[in-house]
Amino acid sequence: MNIAELFNHKKTLFSLEIFPPKKDSSYNIIYNSLLKMRGIPADFISVTYGAGGSRAQQDKTIEIASLILQTYHTEPVAHLTCVNADREQVFQTLAQLKENNVENIMVLRGDISPDSPPKTDFKYASDLAAFIKANEPGFNLLGACYPERHYQAESMEEDIENLKIKIDHGITHLITQLFFDNEKFYSFRDQAEKAGVSLPIQAGIMPITNPRQIERTVALSGASVPAKLQRMFERYGDNEKALFDAGVHYAIEQIMDLIANDVRGIHLYTMNNVEIATRVSDAIQNILEAENNPK
Ligand code: FAD
Repeated sequence: MNIAELFNHKKTLFSLEIFPPKKDSSYNIIYNSLLKMRGIPADFISVTYGAGGSRAQQDKTIEIASLILQTYHTEPVAHLTCVNADREQVFQTLAQLKENNVENIMVLRGDISPDSPPKTDFKYASDLAAFIKANEPGFNLLGACYPERHYQAESMEEDIENLKIKIDHGITHLITQLFFDNEKFYSFRDQAEKAGVSLPIQAGIMPITNPRQIERTVALSGASVPAKLQRMFERYGDNEKALFDAGVHYAIEQIMDLIANDVRGIHLYTMNNVEIATRVSDAIQNILEAENNPK
């Protein structure tokens, strides 16, 4: 199913993101997690793609996406990056996705690693989108966007102009980079709308639930940390259980505020953690139901 159609009859989508484990030995864990996540009413589950990963690792994205569709009967979105790919590889991947009936692709450039120079067939996600639309127009394409600007763009205006190129090449909906300050999202959404972006934008939300994430995830994403979240890190940063609860609560509060402000969807970065996915989903299901089926 083309998930863009969901927006025709739903006001607010709810989706999950998972990643293929790096080690073969961890696959049982992800399969078990997916089994438990089956009870969560997600509109779709997206599976990330290791930009610099081996072919075998990247095949796992397709394998897991296929499993989500065949076994769990939930629509998968397969992420696909182009920074280290050439046309032939992308052709092969598209053929594999078709064989596995995966219809939705998150089209990405991927991060450029200092250790491996990028290949030259595709420079931006928009080039990959154009290539897919020209060769396999049946796929539905999603794209990434950045409420606090992509780190390589000089300004938000420039980033949004580049985003519009991606949209012109066939993206039907956007998912944001994680953020902790909803005001950044609202300001980005307003600016994008004024610049002519009318696609649904889903908010990417990641609960910070373990101390290692505080430095790594927060630093890597470049997301601003509001004072309230900073205080939470200071108070509970060395108490795993308390931080877990606080992180989940913070994310739920963020989501409630986004829904009250008419966000078109929540995309939960689950970190493959069933408890995070379940607790967030349980907390908002009745609210989503009321938003999507008003009496
Ligand atoms: P692009 O849209 O190509 O943009 C990259 C930069 O180039 C931006 O600064 C943009 O302003 C600029 N730009 C774009 N087009 C043009 C143009 N035509 N001319 C000039 N400048 C231009 N990474 C992974 O490796 N695997 C994943 O599975 C993955 N999933 C992600 C999911 C989401 C929701 C998000 C937000 C990110 C994800 N990433 C993933 C990270 C992503 O690959 C990086 O953020 C990467 O640096 C940019 O990818 P992009 O698709 O946004 O790039």
